[in-house]
Amino acid sequence: MAEGTRFEIHLPALRHNFQQIKKQLQNDTKILVVLKAFAYGSDATAIGRFLEKEGADYLGVAYVREGIALRNAGIQIPILVLHPQIHELSNLIAHQLEPCVYSWRILHALEKVLAVQKTKTYPIHLKFNTGLHRLGFSIDDRHTLLQHLKSSSAHVQGVLSHLAATEDPAERTFTLGQLEQFDLLKPVFGDHPIYHVLNTSGVFNYPEAHHDMVRCGIGLYGYGNQKEVSELLHPVGILKTVISQIHEVKVGDAVGYNRGFVADKPTRSATLPIGHADGIGRLYGKGKGAVVIHGHKVPILGNVCMDMIMVDVTNIDCQEGDEVILFGDTQTSAEEVAEHAQTISYELLTAISQRVPRVIVS
Ligand SMILES: *Cc1c(COP(=O)(O)O)cnc(C)c1O
Repeated sequence: MAEGTRFEIHLPALRHNFQQIKKQLQNDTKILVVLKAFAYGSDATAIGRFLEKEGADYLGVAYVREGIALRNAGIQIPILVLHPQIHELSNLIAHQLEPCVYSWRILHALEKVLAVQKTKTYPIHLKFNTGLHRLGFSIDDRHTLLQHLKSSSAHVQGVLSHLAATEDPAERTFTLGQLEQFDLLKPVFGDHPIYHVLNTSGVFNYPEAHHDMVRCGIGLYGYGNQKEVSELLHPVGILKTVISQIHEVKVGDAVGYNRGFVADKPTRSATLPIGHADGIGRLYGKGKGAVVIHGHKVPILGNVCMDMIMVDVTNIDCQEGDEVILFGDTQTSAEEVAEHAQTISYELLTAISQRVPRVIVS
């Protein structure tokens, strides 16, 4: 008898992906492992501890609270906070987290907190906008910034930017333009800081721009945004559930809320204990999404409920209690499943709610 709904986190797959990414890099290029959003919906603490031992150089999170959770778990290596908020800065310092400083407003706020704490010098990573227009100083501010930082308590430990479309060959010219902008920074800030600009797809598609460090998220979790890259990687997370009940549905009978499916032939439906509250959005209903039972792909019948979905097992040899795979094995990758709802693996993975137990598999 299979267990209930769970998200299995396979550490051997994680090690494999870490090694595959490392293989793309020069020996002295550092890896920053991105652990934001519970490590892309998995388990930030488990993954952080594991990759710290495997030789990750840096960890990255979006917010200070995420970094504090990693420090509380005993993680020692440097942690970069990609999007710190001003009200969190004293907590950031208390937990030795390194901030991305992306504007004058956050730089001045940080300097104020450092002055109050009588901290003489604190490591920061300066973030520049090179075309994403999300976070970052203007490249034109580089000289003024350098001048300002000569008498600042903030010490430039790193210099970074973020690219908009590394996975998209149609945007190659644009991306090369972003990289050219980034190249204007080293002559100003010198050789000492760690320069980093690439995410997972950048590592594979722009090997000439690895600089001192790369920042990898999705690749570590097993997805490469393009077929050739995904083939090198193994999905780390497998979302599984079980069959709770099987119904024989007669012609004309309906399944689920608002009679979302009406049988036009005798149908067997299996009810599964996983729904939109667990991260399987309503967009996957009415056949847009499918699950795998004993190696067969079977569509979702009708609407996705909060705690359940029903799937079509008419032609499948299966019983109540049997195992079901939502995504993450060779037959059904998160990338493929996400595509059916016009979204990407990132969203499907990070949507798995905290109600679903995470099970670490070593
Ligand atoms: C999330 C994020 C990354 C990781 O991107 P992947 O495509 O998952 O490798 C890198 N850098 C920044 C600034 C990010 O926000």
